[in-house]
Amino acid sequence: MAAAAQAAAPATIPRSALTDEDYARGVLAGDRAMLGRAITVIESRSPRHRQLAQDILHRLLPHTGRAHRIGITGVPGAGKSTFIEAFGTYLIRQGLKVAVLAVDPSSPVSGGSILGDKTRMAELSQEPNAFIRPSPSGGTLGGVTRTTRQTMVVCDAAGYDVILVETVGAGQSEVAVSDLTDVFVVLMLPGAGDELQGIKKGVLEIADMIVVNKADGGNEIRAKQAVVHYRNALHIIQPKTPTWSPPVLMCSALRNVGVDAVWGKLVEHKEKLSATGEFQTRRQQQRVKAMWTTLQDRVMTDIKSHHLVVEQLPELKAQLLSGNLTVTRAVDRILELFHQD
Ligand code: GDP
Repeated sequence: MAAAAQAAAPATIPRSALTDEDYARGVLAGDRAMLGRAITVIESRSPRHRQLAQDILHRLLPHTGRAHRIGITGVPGAGKSTFIEAFGTYLIRQGLKVAVLAVDPSSPVSGGSILGDKTRMAELSQEPNAFIRPSPSGGTLGGVTRTTRQTMVVCDAAGYDVILVETVGAGQSEVAVSDLTDVFVVLMLPGAGDELQGIKKGVLEIADMIVVNKADGGNEIRAKQAVVHYRNALHIIQPKTPTWSPPVLMCSALRNVGVDAVWGKLVEHKEKLSATGEFQTRRQQQRVKAMWTTLQDRVMTDIKSHHLVVEQLPELKAQLLSGNLTVTRAVDRILELFHQD
């Protein structure tokens, strides 16, 4: 990516001299190298880049809102990358531009599958109308979520019609991705019950659609059983909205069967919820929620890195552990130190 970005950069402007206006102009013109570079600025942790990133986003924000943002989850091996490869290629054949992003704060630690990895989506990554960006490494869930949200703004402004956000089916990242997207799709395996798939009941509560993958090669009956199983499971869950009962579909990402029907349902979801205004309401609620979580992250970072807090923390911890200080008094003390200057 970096090499490609450098090669495509205008020879006369050194990288560091690019202004927020240069980035915004490049992104709006659909320049993929500039898109990649703008995302690198967003992912950077340097204070200089923090300001530049905000200036770029401020310029791009009026040009956003068109993209259909789709979250996809599933346990490792459910077929996420195979599905995204088939689905993304299908969308491109329909004349759409597709971006694939990932939310995976665990990847650098666990050494597990790297989401959004181009080698996992070999065909799609060759498409000029596809843009694939792996999850930024070494971040907290809050940090990765923030950069993904901002990266989506940039992709939206760059004219990507569909933004797929992939996450692995474990822990809190699914909730984070459902808060970033218009619709949340859960990929399941045939046969296995949800407990076997490591899927928590919570994920069914946030699913807008379930797709049982690998319905092929003799697996069809087990896939149908899984469809019935999830339909029943969804029956006892209160739907997020009366306008939409999450459907359960079946597909074979490998054989490219049923992938078009998934898109059909996603379009139907968008049309139905747009008609009632819920589509826009969901986006608005997400923005307000993002504001609070960003504030929370920022305040925590500021407090924890405050020089007096850093200095006095070992003593405070020692007192807390020895029972000389209650938790509430410790918090009061930290806030006093933070407000001193
Ligand atoms: P991920 O970990 O969720 O991204 O899963 P992958 O896409 O890497 O798929 C895991 C394995 O399942 C690979 O060997 C795929 O070839 C296989 N696979 C994925 N989709 C299908 C499918 O529709 N049918 C069959 N039979 N195998 C599939």
